[in-house]
Amino acid sequence: ALDARDLYRFFRAGEEETLALRGVSVRVRPGETVAVVGPSGSGKSTLVACLAGLDEPDGGVVRVGGERISHRPEAERARVRARRIGVLLQSGNLIAHLSVRDNIRLARIAAPGKSTQDIAELLEQVGLAHRARALPQELAGGELARAGLAVALANDPDVLLADEPTGELDGQTEQRVLNLLRERASAGHGVLIVTHSPEAVRIADQVIPLRDGRIRT
Ligand code: ATP
Ligand code: MG
Repeated sequence: ALDARDLYRFFRAGEEETLALRGVSVRVRPGETVAVVGPSGSGKSTLVACLAGLDEPDGGVVRVGGERISHRPEAERARVRARRIGVLLQSGNLIAHLSVRDNIRLARIAAPGKSTQDIAELLEQVGLAHRARALPQELAGGELARAGLAVALANDPDVLLADEPTGELDGQTEQRVLNLLRERASAGHGVLIVTHSPEAVRIADQVIPLRDGRIRT
């Protein structure tokens, strides 16, 4: 479903230069769950941003469903993303002045005809049926993460990319989210998560250990 080859990402901030990705290749096949693990600063979030077409790698190529999402104008990347990818960033992905339900609606508008699932049902799956009308600022940290996950799933994506989807969740809620991810994979979709959780790593078919922008071998 998703294929990234030899990704490089270089950041320069003043005097500071960082090679955040140094030749990372990742493949997420349909029905497969991939866990990306590694210490803080190892390049996990940079990788997710490049895979989602939210950031442009300085080298390498990203394809999703056979379609290139890297090295294209932003509008084309956004179109490929809306059709094929769901992404939950570490910083969240909700628009502040819209309710949870309206955030999901908006994500749907960007991907016409993709999902027919009821919004209430989607919220039920992440355990937030009772928070549909809440604004992001009214949600607890773990609720915010699950609302973000619902938004990421709003377009029924071929590949779900989620940066720490269970980071702030208690054990029971984490299990619920992991079950949802497992169902996605069973239905033939690709799932890639960044995680520090042993429980989440356990559901993965493939584990990618990152360190200093490289896959540790
Ligand atoms: P964490 O587990 O703390 O979330 P991470 O593995 O997600 O860490 P990244 O956010 O990918 O790490 O960052 C990788 C490296 O790239 C870090 O050294 C970071 O400071 C640097 N970096 C990331 N984004 C930028 C940016 N926009 N400008 C400059 N440096 C950046
Ligand atoms: Mg990160």
